Amino acid sequence: MPRHIVCLTFDFDTQSGFIARGMMTPTPLSRGEFGLVGARRILALLKDHGLRATWFIPGFTIESHPAACDAVVQDGHEVAHHSWAHVPPAQQTRAEEEADLIRANEAVEKLTGRKARGYRSPSWDLSESTIDLLLAHGFRYDSSLMGADYWPYRARRGDVAELGKPFRFGAETSLIEMQPARSVMENWLDEFRYMQQSVEWGVLTYTMHPYVIGRGYRMLALEDLIKKLKDMGAMFMTMEDAAAEAQAKMF
Ligand SMILES: [Zn+2]
Repeated sequence: MPRHIVCLTFDFDTQSGFIARGMMTPTPLSRGEFGLVGARRILALLKDHGLRATWFIPGFTIESHPAACDAVVQDGHEVAHHSWAHVPPAQQTRAEEEADLIRANEAVEKLTGRKARGYRSPSWDLSESTIDLLLAHGFRYDSSLMGADYWPYRARRGDVAELGKPFRFGAETSLIEMQPARSVMENWLDEFRYMQQSVEWGVLTYTMHPYVIGRGYRMLALEDLIKKLKDMGAMFMTMEDAAAEAQAKMF
């Protein structure tokens, strides 16, 4: 039986991404604030369709907007790790990165009762320490890399890239890479169609931001997408469940 999994994922940044980029005047902050409106709309839509999703929530959002984050948990969605302050790891020392990772994980644990199983980097870029830190802190999956589309793979450490020399792969780890698809809305359905045509089993991840997708016309497009995916036989699940299925099936 073919099995085509869809993970809907929401990066619930609110103001954190703007603050991390030094954009602290009222207008960019209000763009981030709109994420709270978007999140309410998304939760209502997911509830209407009986779907569970994965929310990557920075510690900043958990501590700034606790009621909005509690609503995500109350509706049964997965909460995953998205840093505390939304600073890209490649801009941090290893010690700074680990301190931020621990602080954010404590916020996740306080919100949900357990530490995060999954991680997505702010800006989708990892540092050379990130994979080691995720393994050391008990993560099962990452969703920041783009080395595949429908087949999860094992994240590696120690890849060697040098100008003027051939690329060398490092060693595979136990961390499962669940890549994040970030495509424009017209291509959303085609990504799923191609997965159905090309593999018997696969996982397609859609990455959205509540402050972007939460605008009215985009919410209509998201609802349309969900209906069409349902009609086409998509299996909706959280990233944690999809990673567990990948682990059992592929590794
Ligand atoms: Zn983000």
